[in-house]
Amino acid sequence: MPHPAVQPAVADVRMRGFTTRATVDAAIAWIDSTLLPVHELPAETVSLLQAAGRVLASNVVSPVDVPGFPRAMMDGYAVVAGDTRGASVQTPLPLAVLGTCLPSAAFAQAVSAGNCVKIMTGAPLPTGANAVLPVEQTRLEGDRMLAMGQVAPGKHVGKPGEDVHAGDLVAQLGRVLRPQDIGLLSSLGLNELTVVRRPRARILITGNELLPMGTPPTGTRITDSNGPMLAALVARDGGEPISGPIVPDDRDAILAAMRDDADIVLVSGGSSVGQEDHAPTLLAQHGELAIHGIAMRPAGPAGMGKLDGRWVFLLPGNPVSCLCAYDFFAGRAIRALAGRPRKWPYECVRLPLASKLASVVGRVDYARVAIRNHTVEPIAMSGGSALSSATKADGFVVIPMDTESYPAGTEVEVCLFG
Ligand code: AMP
Ligand code: MG
Repeated sequence: MPHPAVQPAVADVRMRGFTTRATVDAAIAWIDSTLLPVHELPAETVSLLQAAGRVLASNVVSPVDVPGFPRAMMDGYAVVAGDTRGASVQTPLPLAVLGTCLPSAAFAQAVSAGNCVKIMTGAPLPTGANAVLPVEQTRLEGDRMLAMGQVAPGKHVGKPGEDVHAGDLVAQLGRVLRPQDIGLLSSLGLNELTVVRRPRARILITGNELLPMGTPPTGTRITDSNGPMLAALVARDGGEPISGPIVPDDRDAILAAMRDDADIVLVSGGSSVGQEDHAPTLLAQHGELAIHGIAMRPAGPAGMGKLDGRWVFLLPGNPVSCLCAYDFFAGRAIRALAGRPRKWPYECVRLPLASKLASVVGRVDYARVAIRNHTVEPIAMSGGSALSSATKADGFVVIPMDTESYPAGTEVEVCLFG
């Protein structure tokens, strides 16, 4: 069922142009209408070594205290704190040294008033001792240690459970795991975690003029920008990019590739109204073409629908349009399936415009901008083909449908490319 806000897509618009265009909001509403409120993929178990950047699928409660024993936090001497009272460089107080305690094994003897044990960071505190006097505040004289400073009870001792208590919720479902999470979870003795399965995104690059990555452009051929760019975008959003050979502008080849085993298909190129633009009509014939033609610039020819239960996003071949259409639409679906927040993964700042930012009423504009001296400067190249406009940019400004243009001085929201 198409979303009510969506105009039904015209079945074949080739060489006729778009007569109507869906709004950006309607396209986003269609995506959300195809997703459940929480629509992440099922969980899978992975090694901690593979878990960084993945989304945790269940809460992790610590089965243990970390540390599990009181331990020295400094190299020095395990002492009874009261024995150091009044000790200073001027009045060193002698303590008998019973031996040395190293990390891993407990010291056999107990410490009592008048004696101490040499101890290294990480070693278990011997029974009887309640503080560590750092080595810098001591001097060794034969088999006696001279205390030259005072410590209070508990000083330089790590208490059991000080880092993590047994029963603590250490990582919550939905968390995108950071390297330090992996380290902490390993300290609990875990070696596997359940994480949300990554959505598989088939990247389908079409165009007879395209040469594969790694081939220098020659003559009338250009080298694929969109394939590697989309793979990076998919990975950023928690998906698993699946790349393949470039597909010619051929109906059977495109249809076969759209039917690859994947959760989402990203079709780059051939999505507009040219005679070689086959993907929209194929989708309309064999599946559902829910949206085709969107009131935005760039990325106006973008489209989307479903085929055999999987999402298909039609991304224009012009690289900036491709980036823009991915960011507005495909990325949203990938993030949702990956268990991440649907909204843009960009940080935004509000700054005044250094010069006018032009747009027209009736479409959303995605304007690449640079930030200089705390002001926002539009990047001159405005079309969808020059990808360097996006590499020179610090971010982009979305100019809403009903806004003609922003005069110089207007405070605008800039979404920063990460
Ligand atoms: P299309 O969307 O197929 O009409 O292509 C629009 C423009 O983008 C044409 O100039 C294509 O040559 C170019 N183009 C298409 N696909 C790619 C790609 N993967 N990388 C770089 N440029 C592309
Ligand atoms: Mg083409």
